[in-house]
Amino acid sequence: MPASLKIPLLGPKFQELSSVVQQHKEPDYRARQLFEAIYAQRLSSLDLMSTLPRRFRAALQEQGIEVGPAQIQRSFPSVDGTIRYLVAMSDAETVETVWMPEGDGGEAADGSEAGDEIAQAGFDRATICVSSQIGCAVNCQFCLTAQLGVKRNLTAGEIVGQVIAVLNVRRVDMERQRINIVFMGMGEPLLNYGEFMKAVRLLVEGVGFSESRMTVSTSGIVPRIYDFGAEPGRPKLAISLNAPNDQLRERIMPLNRKWNLEKLMQSARDFPLRNRERITFEYVLLRDFNDHPEHAREVIELLRGIRCKVNLIALNPGPGIAFATPEEQRVHHFQQRLTTAGIPAFIRRPRGRDIYAACGQLKRTVA
Ligand code: SAH
Ligand code: SF4
Repeated sequence: MPASLKIPLLGPKFQELSSVVQQHKEPDYRARQLFEAIYAQRLSSLDLMSTLPRRFRAALQEQGIEVGPAQIQRSFPSVDGTIRYLVAMSDAETVETVWMPEGDGGEAADGSEAGDEIAQAGFDRATICVSSQIGCAVNCQFCLTAQLGVKRNLTAGEIVGQVIAVLNVRRVDMERQRINIVFMGMGEPLLNYGEFMKAVRLLVEGVGFSESRMTVSTSGIVPRIYDFGAEPGRPKLAISLNAPNDQLRERIMPLNRKWNLEKLMQSARDFPLRNRERITFEYVLLRDFNDHPEHAREVIELLRGIRCKVNLIALNPGPGIAFATPEEQRVHHFQQRLTTAGIPAFIRRPRGRDIYAACGQLKRTVA
């Protein structure tokens, strides 16, 4: 049977699996067994699901049902411990998923406060950076993913599949290790809103993550930020600010013409935060473009009254990117200005730059 006619088991919600079970006239509890085998036990084929009777598994296989859809095709380990995985979907399209042991630097990428991640004996920590689309349509001028354009959205199964594939290859024990998920890989998650949120729910209900250990980053799809704020359960929010005013932001992020800073900052002010929660603002520093003290002052004004923190990222350079990385001193001065104004600001350490795994470098580069 051609791959496209196969029906994946990875992706459906519990209720959807229940209807498969009913079609096969199996007892209702089989749906729970299937759900657990796929998401909690993370079994990669029907053959391994020994809790299910052989005839039921054979019947599913005959119907074209398989676990699917994400297979690690290649891995690129960095000198700093980061690993970039090329993950193939069932149509042979690939995306990138990044494993970062010990969080992502001085400050965790999941948006938690610096220093509140106390290492616990016997507990391992890591962050998985997940893609939400193949390519990206937003076209930010400093980002390599943008150069691909957008090929298609990923399904919820393909988003969860990346996480499961990496958990399995890293042999993660969810009971003992603390894993964060950041939706900061290829693509704009809020332009694939339904599948992204479905993936979040499967990761929570099936795989065993809590929403508070997940962060989604958006370039600023304002209407979806409101939808996201209204969700009963949701990851933390990070907004890619990247510029101190509309004039500069338009030049590097064309979407600013549609949703300008006034609209974006209003959505941030309206965003219902939980207890102790903050919005993270990401700010990619581009040499002599948005890294001046005057720009820091404008950022401070923009963020006034918002419970937030700022992650500063010195540009990760790449071919075809017309910007340069600022000097380290500039980055530190920028940080200092923000912290002096009472805004917690952290410098994100680049991870896996040598293997093109750092922010904005995901482009399915093979070497
Ligand atoms: N599309 C979403 C999430 C993926 S990008 C978004 O834009 O928010 C994740 C982060 O990487 C964003 O904050 C983005 O601004 C940053 N980024 C993109 N290209 C970069 C580069 N070349 N160097 C450093 N950070 C970059
Ligand atoms: Fe897309 Fe984010 Fe890259 Fe912008 S920075 S092109 S939104 S992936």
